[in-house]
This record gives sequence, C-alpha cells and structure tokens, in this order.
Amino acid sequence: MMPGEHKPGPLSGKHALVTGGGRGIGAAIARALLEQGAAVSLLGRNRQTLDAAARELAAVGEVACFAADVADSDAVAAAFAAAARRGTVDILVNNAGQAHSAPFLKTDAQLWREMLSVNLEGTFHCTRAALPGMLEKGWGRVVNIASTAGLTGYAYVSAYCAAKHGVIGLTRALALELATKGVTVNAVCPGYTDTDMVRETVANIVQKTARNPEQARAELTAGNPQKRLIAPEEVAGAVVWLCLPQSSAMNGQAIAVAGGEIM
Ligand code: NAP
Repeated sequence: MMPGEHKPGPLSGKHALVTGGGRGIGAAIARALLEQGAAVSLLGRNRQTLDAAARELAAVGEVACFAADVADSDAVAAAFAAAARRGTVDILVNNAGQAHSAPFLKTDAQLWREMLSVNLEGTFHCTRAALPGMLEKGWGRVVNIASTAGLTGYAYVSAYCAAKHGVIGLTRALALELATKGVTVNAVCPGYTDTDMVRETVANIVQKTARNPEQARAELTAGNPQKRLIAPEEVAGAVVWLCLPQSSAMNGQAIAVAGGEIM
C-alpha cells in the first residue's frame, strides 16, 4: 500500500493501536484490523521486532511503530502522544503481556510486581492515555487481551492469574463507567495459543520436569476440549468483531477463545 492509503473496510478511517503488536497474538490482531481497513500503530519494547512486523504488514495497510514499555507510564504517555499525530486512537488493544510461572512460595515480590506491572498496570496506563481522545470523539473500542487465567485459576501462575483477573475487573468496571459515552470495553480471553509465550512455557516444563516437548505440549492442550492450541488468528477474529461498528452493544464482556475450556 502507498503511504496514506487505507484498505477500504468497515474500520476505514479508524486508527487502532495494538500493544505487543510486533509478534504473536498482537501481530495477528494488527493484520486482522488492517484487513478491515483500520490504520494500525504497533507498540512494544523492541524496535527491531516492531519494524520487522511493520515491513511484513505494509502490503496489507498503513502501519507505524512506537517503542515503549507498557509498565512505564511516562514512556506510554510519550508513545501515545506520538501515535496521536496519526490521528486519535479510536481502537486500543491492550495485548502486551508476559506469563512467568512459579510455585506460590517461589513467587517473590519481584516476579509478583512484574506480572502486575506489565499485564495489569500496562493496561491501566495505555487506557488512560487513549481514553481522552475517544471520549472527545464519542466513539471508541478498548479490547483487553486477558486470558482464561483471568476467568479461572491455574496452578503455578498465581501472579499472572491475579493480574489477568484484575484486567477483567478493570474491563467490567470501565465498561459500566463509559456505557453512555460511545466507548465499549471488553476482554478477550485466549486459552493456550501457539506463540512464543507457549514455546517458552513448553521449554520451561521440559527444563523443570522429566517431560519431553511433546509431553509438555500435550499437557497444555489437555485442558482444551478440542485438544489443540488456539491459533493467534482465532483470537484476532474475536477482537476484530468487538471493534466493528455493529458490535456497539457488546460491552463489559470477557469472551473465552479456548475451544470450550471455560463455559
Ligand atoms: P508473546 O508471543 O510472548 O508476545 C508478547 C508481546 O507483548 C510481544 O509483542 C512483546 O513485545 C510485548 N510485550 C511484552 N512485555 C511488554 C512490555 N513490558 N511493554 C510492551 N510490550 C511488551 O505473547 P502472546 O502469546 O502473543 O501474548 C499476547 C497476549 O495474550 C498477552 O497479554 C498474553 O498474556 C495473552 N495470552 C496469551 C496466551 C498464550 O497461550 N499465548 C494465552 C492467554 C493469553 P516486546 O518483547 O518487543 O516488548
């Protein structure tokens, strides 16, 4: 696509910012939003990863990159101010996240704070940065990528589970607060999805137990009634649907994309 050119679609004229958009689920969401006509900004810590993703996505639509750590409120404010020069952020996808596992008594204060600061406070900082523009326009979509770990407990990920439950609580409260303002707030809750995050989890299980990679992978898919990993594109499909103009009655929901693991 030429600079300034947008693929026509139901999200034409909308500017979407996807945190953690350089790889994994975030990159799939960015592509799906571009395919619906949105202009997309990618935000992440690693500039090279972002630039590589932007080069790949350039054939689909107009992409710009902003480097920031979502846990750093000043960096987030600066990145959103720069992104706003492309136009108001109409759609915010809070996708950046990390999942480190440890038994509870080995979850030290540093790991606890890291999980909360990236997964929960990052969502807080980015939403605070994007919301004024949405309120001014009287239209907006906030989609928080939580997890099935935001809807139920899993052993050995207490800090991650607490953070993702927090993301869903934030989603529900803010959805009510903004219900008459034209802005919807929803969460999408993937089960184990085929990305670097799951590859790292498999490597971790192999390292800490006697299991081989196939056994470790089977352990992760065992809880999914479809006995498989979710594809990033399947998560992206749910996100895009929530962003469409006709989804304006979808508000405060936490939608599991997990093959029936949670119901
Ligand atoms: P991933 O492949 O590990 O990618 C994580 C993304 O988040 C990367 O783009 C990374 O970019 C970015 N990121 C991490 N920490 C960041 C920070 N402090 N500031 C800014 N960006 C940061 O993970 P994924 O599987 O795509 O996960 C995406 C989201 O889905 C996460 O919120 C995760 O919790 C959630 N989720 C994943 C699964 C799964 O099984 N994969 C299941 C349920 C929920 P940089 O490294 O460049 O910063």
